[in-house]
Amino acid sequence: MDNKKLANLLFPDIIKTPEDYEKQYPKRNLPDGAKVTRFAPSPTGFLHIGGLFAAFVSERAARSTGGVFYLRIEDTDKKREVENGVRGIVEGLQNFGIKIDEGMLSETDSVGEYGPYTQSMRKEIYQTYCKSLVEHGFAYPCFCTAEELENIRAEQEKNKQNPGYYGKYARCRDLSFEEIEEKIRSGAPYVVRLKSPGSEEKRIKFDDSIKGEIEMPENVQDIVLLKTDGIPTYHFAHAIDDHLMGTTDVIRGDEWISSAPIHLQLFNILGFKTPHYAHISPIMKEDVETGGKRKLSKRKDPEAAVTFYHENGYPKEAVLEYLLTIANSNYEEWRAANPDADRSKFEFKLSNMSKAGALFDLMKLTDISKNYICRMDKDTVYSETLAWAEKYKPEFASLLKENRDYAIKIFGIERGNEKPRKDIAKWEDTVEYTRYFFTRPEKYEFADNLSNADMIEILNTYKTVYSADETAEEWFPKVREMSVNLGYAKAPKVYKKDPESYKGHVGDVATVIRVAVTGRRNTPDLYEIMQTLGYDEAIDRIDAAIDFLNA
Ligand code: GLU
Repeated sequence: MDNKKLANLLFPDIIKTPEDYEKQYPKRNLPDGAKVTRFAPSPTGFLHIGGLFAAFVSERAARSTGGVFYLRIEDTDKKREVENGVRGIVEGLQNFGIKIDEGMLSETDSVGEYGPYTQSMRKEIYQTYCKSLVEHGFAYPCFCTAEELENIRAEQEKNKQNPGYYGKYARCRDLSFEEIEEKIRSGAPYVVRLKSPGSEEKRIKFDDSIKGEIEMPENVQDIVLLKTDGIPTYHFAHAIDDHLMGTTDVIRGDEWISSAPIHLQLFNILGFKTPHYAHISPIMKEDVETGGKRKLSKRKDPEAAVTFYHENGYPKEAVLEYLLTIANSNYEEWRAANPDADRSKFEFKLSNMSKAGALFDLMKLTDISKNYICRMDKDTVYSETLAWAEKYKPEFASLLKENRDYAIKIFGIERGNEKPRKDIAKWEDTVEYTRYFFTRPEKYEFADNLSNADMIEILNTYKTVYSADETAEEWFPKVREMSVNLGYAKAPKVYKKDPESYKGHVGDVATVIRVAVTGRRNTPDLYEIMQTLGYDEAIDRIDAAIDFLNA
């Protein structure tokens, strides 16, 4: 067979050669050890937390070595694509502060010298390399119909042989030029397949940066390189793109491990240097139904979508901090030793990633987030809450804007001290957290250990002792003194020793005042709350509670 003739028959319009592209995309000029990594999602519009995780890990790997991180859109599977699919990805990365050096910035704009960074714009490049493979006898057209492929599969099943298009089952391998020409003339659709040089006896080995050494049988399948519409398969596009774009480390989900023999073979045949591979295990979740573990699922788990974190207002820093704890198990230790250090100072290592799937734990993220938010100053809490509310709770945003100083004061309660409170895990929590400052209680969580008459007595007495200008130091002793005068123990301990002698203790008294003012039993420091509300408002609320108890 005259391969050159065949190549021209299949690709009459392709006039460039691989050498042209090698020149157009020269080797990157980077320091030794610098990693070039990429995030290469399909534009399905949905950014899975596992995708964000992969992007984050890839960005860390590049950034920590002075390399390049880029975003490539893999849109060769038109069936999976959705409108504005790129936007969801670009915004998802942006919302979490993951910056790209190169790649797609929107559906149409990009930055960088190694583009186009969208696969559907690279058709000619793939075809050029494919033409060259045909020329060198490493690829051929295949006209098998779906039905013929099904027959092959049935025969293989009957013979208890591996499924696929290989060896004697690869019928179109041996078509003559005339047969091919004839079929093409008649308009028969065809794919272009790899003529795999693999052998079933041989094995391949590679050193996965996460999973360690992996050994697998060599690829023998004549996999499809170009589909009937001339669009490449993932395998072929991966080899061409990661080569031309100079990727040094392919960091991707471990569902691709089984295809690694195909990829290594393609790099080899194409004469490309193979990249390092790092296969990330999927993020797992405890399955409440079975007690076992399962993959975090787009369908079942709202927290699988990165929009979940943004919409609920988890600060991006907290999410990234959490992702680092599941990426490198030594991160928590580092963080404990360096509580105030910037997380970029942590030496991230692919080799320290979990080989099995990391377990996703929303409670842990909640803890990290609370710890993060409790250390913020009140102005930052205000501005971050406002930014979130403007997007997701416009009425709350207006309230915050109209009452700026008051809101900042609210966020300042028990903040900035040694043991700040950890009430807020996400900006969404601030709606409930601030509610009683803006609206008077509609219901009261009064305890039932005291009678209404006792509670009314407490509130009336409190009104007579509370003054507008008292300090925090003066306040509590006053409440204690008043409690003792009304027949309550001055401390819970004292009450517990001799409950018969008291109506309750000072804590019960403070709770009555707290519930009267806020409606709730559990709040931050009551003194600070009353100072924030102001004297008149506090007294008005106590009166309203007395009315409620009298009714
Ligand atoms: N487009 C592929 C996917 O979304 C990318 C895999 C890779 O990173 O190579 O699974």
